[in-house]
Order: sequence, then C-alpha cells, then structure tokens
Amino acid sequence: MTTGKTTDPQSRAGRLPARVALGTMHGKERALAPAFDRLSVRLIVPAGLNTDSFGTFSAETPRAGSMEDAARAKIAAALAVTGLPVGLASEGAYGPHPAVPFMAAGLEILMWRDADQGHEIIERLGDDRPAYDRAEVADMDQAAPLLTRMGFPETALIVSPAGDARGPVAKGLTGLSELAAAIVAACKASPVGKAVLQTDMRAHMNPRRMSMIARLGLRLAERLACRCDGCGAPGWGRLGTVPGLPCSWCGGPSLLIAHEVHGCTACGTTRPVPRPDGKTMADPGECPACNP
Ligand SMILES: [Zn+2]
Ligand SMILES: [Zn+2]
Repeated sequence: MTTGKTTDPQSRAGRLPARVALGTMHGKERALAPAFDRLSVRLIVPAGLNTDSFGTFSAETPRAGSMEDAARAKIAAALAVTGLPVGLASEGAYGPHPAVPFMAAGLEILMWRDADQGHEIIERLGDDRPAYDRAEVADMDQAAPLLTRMGFPETALIVSPAGDARGPVAKGLTGLSELAAAIVAACKASPVGKAVLQTDMRAHMNPRRMSMIARLGLRLAERLACRCDGCGAPGWGRLGTVPGLPCSWCGGPSLLIAHEVHGCTACGTTRPVPRPDGKTMADPGECPACNP
C-alpha cells in the first residue's frame, strides 16, 4: 500500500471523530454507513435538510459552481444543523460520454471536510456504464420499448414536457400506470406535444448510483485509516497523477501516466508513487514522437 501509512494514532489530528454529519436527503447513509462503521464513525443525517437547493439533476435548480463547491455547501448545511465540526457529502455529474458517441458517463465525488481545520479529503470515481438515459416520446407506446434500456422500474424515471423549461411533471416514477399518466400530462403541457423521459439520478431512485456511492465510501474509509507520517492527519492517499511514462523506443515522454502522487491535504506533504500496474515503460504507440 502507500508509503505514508502509519499505525500510530497518538496525534490528536490523527483521531477520527465519533460522529460525522452527512449532508444528504436521498438515503445515502444506507450506502455509506457500512464503510464508516468499520472506523467506528457514526454518520448523522440531519432531519429536514434540503440538499436540492444546491442543485438538482432534473435542472429545476442548476448547480452553482463545481461539484466540489456543491459538496462543500451540503456539508456546511449539515454542520450548521448538527453543530458537528466534521461532515461528509457526495455529488454526482452525468451526461453524454466525452469520447464515445451515444454513451453516457458519470463522475461521483465524496468529500470529507473538517471545517475547524479546513481539511478536506476527496475521493473520485468515474462510471462509464451509469444508469443515465434520456429520450423524447410522443406517447406510452413509444416509451414502452425504451423502459428496459433505462433500467425501469429499478431505476425510477422523471417525465417533463419537451421544449418547456418549467421542469418535470413527475419524478421518482416506478409504476407503469403513473408513468403513462405523466407522459400524457407532459405531452399536453409541451409546445411540441412530446414528453422527455429520463432516468432519475437521485441516489435513492438510482441503484447504480447508490452502488457507486457505496464503493466511494469504502475507498474514503480506507483512506481515512491511512495517516500522514508527517503530521498524523487521517486521509493520506492519491492526490493526482503525472503524465509522461517514458517511451520504450525513444525514451521520450509518452501520453501515459508516469507515476501517481500521494500526499496529505492537511500538511501538504507529497510523494511520488509508482503506477499500480507496475508499468515503467510505454508502448511506442502511446508516444507522440514515435507515433505522431
Ligand atoms: Zn517514442
Ligand atoms: Zn500531513
């Protein structure tokens, strides 16, 4: 594992809090609690927190700023309600795949933030097979053949009038008759007589997203168990990568990752770490000089 790992928990900074506020209203504690139980960290979900005010997937409230900003805002709200100093929140972004036509891609982040110390730890996970889909239909007959592809009814659907920015007529749909009624209502409200059908990306409505959040929780918990051997803070781990793995023909920098950078966001210590696959040379096919 990482070289910064130490088992000495005597530093005050190294101790994990017994209770951490989780900024969610979409049942993410179900996905995250098992990982944090192992660290004896209890997740506290504040009642009545409206995280939709920080942005919704169905675009009634566009997200202001970055995914990190949104996660930070959810944590701040959860800390304000609970009075706890440390919080946790996740944020996802989904859309068309940047490289592959007709494919979708997603990114999930999970942030741990100690507001007293301004110390943040972020884990990120990409999903190239997300339960994310969208289609326009004129009636239920056109919708029916799309439902399996969309993961319905395990993944809930949202129905909105096409060409109308007022937002969905219904969200969280998991029943056929409600879905059919929503499609009729949306077509009626639409200036072009069509309904937009899309997967509900809220975590409690999208099992694929929930499983991604659970995986992120395990990764973050594993990382929190790694302490910085410089300052003792929890969360030593991967911060980024450096490109330029040497080409096996010319020795020049290729497009591949040369090594990872691991470090501590509390004290700023960083250390280069070899690629997890052990590769030390790149194929000439990845080299801009040998394969321009
Ligand atoms: Zn080369
Ligand atoms: Zn440190």
